[in-house]
Amino acid sequence: MKTAIIGGGITGLAAAYHLVKRGVRPVIFEPGPFGGMIRSVLRDGFTLEQGPNVLVERPDIVSLLGDLGLQHRVRYPSVEPYGQYVWFRGRPTKVPAGLGELVRSPLFSARTKLALPMRILLPGTLATPSPDLSVLDFFSPLLGRATVQALLDPVLKGIYGGDVGRLSARMIFPGLWGACSKGDSIMSYLRKRPKGGKPRIFGIEGGIQSIAAALVEFLQGKADFVRQPVESITQSAGGFEIRCKDGHRLLSDSCVVTTAGATTASFVGHVSPTLAQRLTQVEFAGLTVVHCALDRTESLIPGAFGVLFPGGMPDNFLGIMFNSVIFPHVAPADKHLVTLVLGGAQAGSAAPDLGRLREALPRLLHSLLGIKKVEWLDAYAWRGAIPQLQVGYSEIVGALDAAESSSPGLVFAGVDRGGVGVSDRLRIARESVEKLVSTDLPRVALA
Ligand SMILES: Cc1cc2nc3c(=O)[nH]c(=O)nc-3n(C[C@H](O)[C@H](O)[C@H](O)COP(=O)(O)OP(=O)(O)OC[C@H]3O[C@@H](n4cnc5c(N)ncnc54)[C@H](O)[C@@H]3O)c2cc1C
Repeated sequence: MKTAIIGGGITGLAAAYHLVKRGVRPVIFEPGPFGGMIRSVLRDGFTLEQGPNVLVERPDIVSLLGDLGLQHRVRYPSVEPYGQYVWFRGRPTKVPAGLGELVRSPLFSARTKLALPMRILLPGTLATPSPDLSVLDFFSPLLGRATVQALLDPVLKGIYGGDVGRLSARMIFPGLWGACSKGDSIMSYLRKRPKGGKPRIFGIEGGIQSIAAALVEFLQGKADFVRQPVESITQSAGGFEIRCKDGHRLLSDSCVVTTAGATTASFVGHVSPTLAQRLTQVEFAGLTVVHCALDRTESLIPGAFGVLFPGGMPDNFLGIMFNSVIFPHVAPADKHLVTLVLGGAQAGSAAPDLGRLREALPRLLHSLLGIKKVEWLDAYAWRGAIPQLQVGYSEIVGALDAAESSSPGLVFAGVDRGGVGVSDRLRIARESVEKLVSTDLPRVALA
């Protein structure tokens, strides 16, 4: 099988890895740095993650790290249990980690606290009208609108940079949505979930980019690399023709597309004009990641990993992570490393003014958290990073499914489909390769 992989981010590299394991030599098209959104900068004893900071322990990532010989670099939180906070009524407020904390939490009204047991036990609390609901409308009958806005909004802003009033409950909570559509109560959904509790989080000594680097090393001599952006894909009876701007051309009998949204739309129009049109509608939120150092003498919230903020903060401030509190390996012994994230869907598409932020952020940190001395280390602005899975997004997924069905051998594995977390990306890469190898394809006459 001759297979092209479009994009050499973590999904493309992992898809190539799975193909190689099955005896296929893939061709990877990647014009930029390998790893895509994964970028680690090691400087003066700091590990600055400009993209993902924290990984979630799931089977695909555990097995990949094992195969690549990277398990010894895994660093679990040094503080357990660590707390996550949201900004509520002008102060950091702990996200309840259990029933005892929930009963005492100001994030829930007295009425909600009294009603919760019945709402969880009885079927029908959460309605699932077709086709979809916003996260805000879906969870309000359970938690009340005020709690959804105070708790879920900052948490989802931390993951998607999106707004609970626009994000799709069906896409973001598919398991709960499916169970409630079948008439299950929330309790019965919780009982049926796989046991084992919440998955652990971890970081990588030497930076998360080490995973991408190890994959590239593994692929040397087993895959081919084309350092050009793909410009078009066309399909004929024999397979797919992939063309780049510089005239580079490849005939392949299958193709894994790991780009997303408008990028995919720019080259997939010949294969599926409908899909290309749909993909241009996907909105992406930009995120700006700023790393700062603080003296260890600055007092942070003890045992807290960070604080997430609701909409409407100055400079679209979304959250602060106290990285070195949980992962000491990311900073020298006398310093704390904190990461600030700004932007999101609320910020629109304008590029942030980093010079102004450099002036404004220390003042903001002082006024919000009492942090006095901040040393600016690094900033990186991602334009259009996280797809906004908004109400009605299932139509986009439907268009991706339809294009796959009508073009056997073409698989879409970009961030506009499935989860955005690195662990989800690795699962999707594996599933995409499994899908390909189980497809009966006409073989191209290799050019
Ligand atoms: C600031 C930030 C923080 C994050 N934090 C976390 C976190 O803490 N934990 C977590 O699990 N996840 C996090 N994520 C999400 C996660 O990093 C991404 O979802 C994941 O890295 C995406 O990988 P990918 O390979 O699917 O896409 P990408 O990394 O976007 O890779 C796609 C690749 O395609 C290439 N490409 C583009 N156009 C073309 C073309 N025409 N032809 C060929 N190639 C092309 C690009 O150069 C790119 O390398 C974060 C993301 C960001 C931006």
